[in-house]
Amino acid sequence: MPAAEPLSPEFLKSVSTGPGVYQMLARKEVLYVGKAVNLRKRLASYKRFSGADHSKTGMMLARVRRIETILTTTEKEALILEASLIKKHRPRYNVILRDDKNYPLIKVTVKDQWPRVLVTRKRVRDGSRYFGPYSSASSMREVLKLLQSLFPLRRCRKVQPRSRPCLNYQIGNCLAPCAMPVDKGAYKEMVDNILMILEGKNHELITVLRNKMQTAAQARKYEEAALYRDQIRELEKTLERQVVVAEHHLDQDVFGLSRKDASVGIAILFVRAGIVSGAQTFHLNDPLGSDEAILAATIIQYYSDQRQPPAEILLPRQPDDAGLLRERLSELRGSSVKLLVPRRGNRVQLMTMARQNAEQIFTDQEQQKKSWDNLASMLQKILHLGREPDHIECVDISNIGGRQAVGSLVCYKDGAPYKAGYRHYRIRGKETPDDYAMMREVLERRLEKGMVEQNLPDLLLLDGGKGQLSLAVDVLDQLGITDAIDLVAIAKEKELEGEKLFRPGRKNPILLPGHSPVLLFLMRVRDEAHRFGITHHRKLRSKSTLASELDALQGIGPQRKKLLLKIFGSLTRLKQATAAEIEHVPGIGAVLAGSIHQQLHQNDETR
Ligand code: SF4
Repeated sequence: MPAAEPLSPEFLKSVSTGPGVYQMLARKEVLYVGKAVNLRKRLASYKRFSGADHSKTGMMLARVRRIETILTTTEKEALILEASLIKKHRPRYNVILRDDKNYPLIKVTVKDQWPRVLVTRKRVRDGSRYFGPYSSASSMREVLKLLQSLFPLRRCRKVQPRSRPCLNYQIGNCLAPCAMPVDKGAYKEMVDNILMILEGKNHELITVLRNKMQTAAQARKYEEAALYRDQIRELEKTLERQVVVAEHHLDQDVFGLSRKDASVGIAILFVRAGIVSGAQTFHLNDPLGSDEAILAATIIQYYSDQRQPPAEILLPRQPDDAGLLRERLSELRGSSVKLLVPRRGNRVQLMTMARQNAEQIFTDQEQQKKSWDNLASMLQKILHLGREPDHIECVDISNIGGRQAVGSLVCYKDGAPYKAGYRHYRIRGKETPDDYAMMREVLERRLEKGMVEQNLPDLLLLDGGKGQLSLAVDVLDQLGITDAIDLVAIAKEKELEGEKLFRPGRKNPILLPGHSPVLLFLMRVRDEAHRFGITHHRKLRSKSTLASELDALQGIGPQRKKLLLKIFGSLTRLKQATAAEIEHVPGIGAVLAGSIHQQLHQNDETR
């Protein structure tokens, strides 16, 4: 792993001519990760770079202080390593896929003894099957409703033995494996049917169900046959509503790419059994490289063992390293994957749809920008601000009875949440609750850092009234940035009164009608700060609850508690263990294991 003066002749001489990955670094930050079949040749090409200094590559090269290389045996290994280093470091000059929106997924917990179906927004490596993303929450809810109406899988988070099933059983939503004898084979069959629907195999499933209905009818099991009949009817109704875009019934992902100025929009349409089942879009801000390089980088980052590619991927052009990509994707899928650039027929129509979706990203952004510009100028006018507030931050302070006090700061840029700017501040000051002191501490820490990094907000929104406002005025004054930031405090002082907006230098609050877009926007930002604070608190609370749950276990001393944690790895895993599994821990017999299990589950909720 050589490291020397970047791109000097000595350094280049020391670099291998074999395949591998190179990382360009500023001091500590990884700026760019690339791969090459011949590392020395690839790095030497940067030496010959003749583009403008203000081009993106020029700017990156000006910042590089060090280059590190990692040798691999094959180019494919380099491709995989490059993707994993990009995921790890998220270098600012690489193509990084950030979901445009937080799309919902359907998760089937196939690894569970009694699987269930749920909605999630996160794909994790837990052995579950994930479907989607669904382009709209309503289309996803429709699918979920169908699955739940047809197949009564459990709804609760965890199946615990119960003496009586919950209401879900009474209303026919669950077979109640918690309390009733449920045939494992029949339950598995329901799960398999759900998977078929989610895989888009509705036609095949209808055929399977028809056969079963006939067999049941012949055996005079009329109730069972009626059940199959109802399921077939529901499925047929769903099929009627779906728009078939391709008659071939193949599974395809269709990539569309569109450019606007320095930005690139990428849309991926998911065609399952000839039906568009969802879409996902990405916005890449000023990415390095040609369309072919961007497509290659997108594909290698997008697919993984958690998100396997379909048999066919349609692309607007051949990506760089198409052969290598095909090999890698086929490996992930376990069978061959085709990368096609369609020229005629039905596939071209799909490509057009994907391209239009990619173009739509910019149209949507323009519309958002326009409506934000209007709102920003209204904010300035109505609240008498010194500037149009393109960068807004809002602070919320929360604590649990004075302990674990946390300041939560949310950031909005051009009217939209800018998650990279969200921060939590652990209050370092007092243990006893004092909202003013905590607010002061958070403001000072945020603004002092902002002055150094030159990223101060245009507008600071405070959750509170005159008190919070004069405190913030004081902080700004002390830091000498009074004119740099506008301050607004928002408070509802009495339950029946509306929100009041306070501004420095104004005795009376500004009262806006409840439907005012300015007021609604500020309330949204304030509520987002609350939400961000509450979510963080829940996490802290669940951590401390877990610790105290373990402490509260009766009948075992600290040594055995330690041993339990050591053997199960975490309290969560210990809670997942059965009494029989706990019994195997040295020094814990059947009676104690039963008691531990019972103590850990006595407060379990049913949802
Ligand atoms: S607790 Fe309710 S939802 Fe869970 S398995 Fe029992 S009946 Fe089903």
